[in-house]
Amino acid sequence: MDKIKMLTPVVELDGDEMTRVIWQWIKDVLIFPYVDLKSEYYDLSLVNREATKDQVTKDAAAAIDRLGVGVKCATITPNAQRMTEYSLSSMWKSPNGTIRAALDGTVFREPIMASGISPLVPAWTSPIIIARHAYGDVYKDVEALCPKGSKAELVITSEGEEKRILIADYVKSGGVALGMHNLDSSIRSFAKSCFNYALTKGLDLWFSSKDTISATYDHRFKDIFQEEYDANYKAAFEEKGITYFYTLIDDAVARVMRSKGGFIWACKNYDGDVMSDMLATAFGSLAMMTSVLVSPSGKFEFEAAHGTVTRHYYRHLKGESTGTNPIATIFAWTGGLKKRGELDGTPDLVRYAELLEKATIETVESGYMTGDLKAIFKKDGVEPVALTTMEFLHKIAERLEKAL
Ligand code: NAP
Ligand code: MG
Repeated sequence: MDKIKMLTPVVELDGDEMTRVIWQWIKDVLIFPYVDLKSEYYDLSLVNREATKDQVTKDAAAAIDRLGVGVKCATITPNAQRMTEYSLSSMWKSPNGTIRAALDGTVFREPIMASGISPLVPAWTSPIIIARHAYGDVYKDVEALCPKGSKAELVITSEGEEKRILIADYVKSGGVALGMHNLDSSIRSFAKSCFNYALTKGLDLWFSSKDTISATYDHRFKDIFQEEYDANYKAAFEEKGITYFYTLIDDAVARVMRSKGGFIWACKNYDGDVMSDMLATAFGSLAMMTSVLVSPSGKFEFEAAHGTVTRHYYRHLKGESTGTNPIATIFAWTGGLKKRGELDGTPDLVRYAELLEKATIETVESGYMTGDLKAIFKKDGVEPVALTTMEFLHKIAERLEKAL
């Protein structure tokens, strides 16, 4: 069989620990035999981030901006313990944060579904993709304790003019106060990323906030989304047969629980933080969750939502075989290659990526999986078998081979 050709490279961001090991195995077993892989490679391992003073992360972000599609392996975010372990000269920032800031992007978390791995909400038969605005609100607030007898005011100065708004008079009791903000530019980028991703996926977009109570702050979000939709996306949405729908956060929560899934839910920063953890848990497993960074200008970076699976890595170093689940990392690759194929107009690459996803899911559905999934797998007539990562990758390759 001729290998599938690529026109433009994907930006490949290698990472750390167990996921770095699996990264190479996925390429060896599932990609190289079938695809003439073109990639522009950046080594984001902590060792190389230290060696390059983190320049490699900035270069990788610039490459995604230039080429349009990146695929990223999980990376260590340094903490005090990692400083010692890797003799770091600085506590380098999370690469995900650096790349997100460079591309001004929004992260979409997307569960991978397979029969036998059932969501805790039985009605959910399709994925619910969550988009979290990653700037401002309570994450960039200022807070103060206000003693009894004090007064808190919001003061806004503009061109010498001063506007004061009373927050509270602490007459009967002391208390607390908080000031937070957001930026039109950031909200607009968030909205654009959401609309772009809904078009890419062909899925409805929901956006929720609390604009009835927060009639200026949250209302600003609602207005900017609507402006962007009307000005730049309405026609394309209608053509695709998808809808944009705004609702109150409490109504959204109720609708989500009753829904069948199959839509994108855009949330403000705090709502997205909380709701994404709830959805990830309810869909079954962190190892079955992918994450896509989408920039307002339509650049994409795909990765697994989980970390570098440190404990498995130390077992691997001792020579033990581990059953680390590679599915989210496989889907990072298929997401990136599929997008590359769509942008380049290379249907063979798109088809390969789709068949690899199908082969992966069907392997699980037929009873072959890693231990983490065996623990939650329930399907009539199928007795699950736990495999090591390598055995599982070869099972997938057998199916893929037949399908291709
Ligand atoms: P983690 O790597 O996601 O692992 C947490 C635990 O979840 C694992 O110990 C394992 O449980 C289970 N798990 C996660 N992924 C799995 C998989 N694919 N297959 C099987 N089990 C899986 O999170 P962490 O231990 O909090 O973080 C480890 C490192 O990853 C940290 O240095 C952190 O900075 C980094 N991190 C990176 C990213 C990213 O790059 N996007 C995201 C999160 C964390 P058992 O050990 O019980 O089997
Ligand atoms: Mg959280």
